[in-house]
Amino acid sequence: MKQEATIYVAGHRGMVGSAIVRNLQAKGYENIIIRTSSELDLRNQAAVADFFAAEKPDYVFLAAAKVGGILANNTYRAEFLYDNLMIESNIIHSAYKNDVTKLLFLGSSCIYPKMAPQPLREESLLTGLLEETNEPYAIAKIAGIKLCEAYRSQYGADFISAMPTNLYGPNDNYDLQGSHVLPALIRKFHDAKINDLPTVEVWGTGSPRREFLHADDLADACVFLMNNYDGELFVNIGVGDDVTIRELAEMVKDVVGYEGELRWNTDKPDGTPRKLMDVSRLHAMGWKHTTDLREGLELTYQDFLANEVLYVE
Ligand code: GDP
Repeated sequence: MKQEATIYVAGHRGMVGSAIVRNLQAKGYENIIIRTSSELDLRNQAAVADFFAAEKPDYVFLAAAKVGGILANNTYRAEFLYDNLMIESNIIHSAYKNDVTKLLFLGSSCIYPKMAPQPLREESLLTGLLEETNEPYAIAKIAGIKLCEAYRSQYGADFISAMPTNLYGPNDNYDLQGSHVLPALIRKFHDAKINDLPTVEVWGTGSPRREFLHADDLADACVFLMNNYDGELFVNIGVGDDVTIRELAEMVKDVVGYEGELRWNTDKPDGTPRKLMDVSRLHAMGWKHTTDLREGLELTYQDFLANEVLYVE
């Protein structure tokens, strides 16, 4: 990407999109195009078509999506499928129609079969059944990958896809019904500490394993791929290492400085047992994350304290 290129970041208010904007700005890119969802409803085909025809961006980072944790995914199954299919179909098709130089689509590690061999290699896509709790979201994300592949093979469009592992960082969702585990635990331990509560409820058995990547590392990897990768196969983005939910909970408890007990609620689902990414292809290209989990948690708790009013409404 040349410094003067026009770059549309879809989803710039979210954790991923805002991190991509920060990364681009830090690298000196100045022509960044953004629209809030009230300015541009990405589910609206005509609105997206008009926007692309008017703006003609050179590059597109597709970081807009309806996202959420295990409960939200499992509850709003229709919206997770419909909204995501519409957003990615509209943007990818309009990008092709308006000769976008390159597009990066962001998926998720939940696209892989529930029982795929670990660590998850890119080649495992569509080799088995998906985890039930987030099947609609995963199906939508798989459709996005296939759209990029199809526009590439049929029309030669330079559309690439990246599959991040579980993410955390600034602008995460801290709503306890909709959030992922890491922000939920920060908020729960923080509230319990402030209110002197003796226990904190944690969901499931604590035995599932999850990998966590800081959003700023993800953004850096996305800009790296945009500048260095043009292959057909999508690329995993992660740290290559995971922890149990129990280990994560202990670490968050320690970072927050909460001294009470954990209470495991096994009526809540565990979800998939493990989803560790194989990141050897990304490492072979020359990119590796820089923020480890402990340091990332400390940064994220500081960010939570600074923005609590904004995050917890
Ligand atoms: P997943 O990675 O798609 O399964 O989504 P989550 O990040 O929501 O959940 C990951 C794991 O953390 C699951 O095993 C959850 O049961 C567990 N977990 C423990 N406590 C919580 C919590 O307070 N909120 C959420 N979302 N998950 C929790």
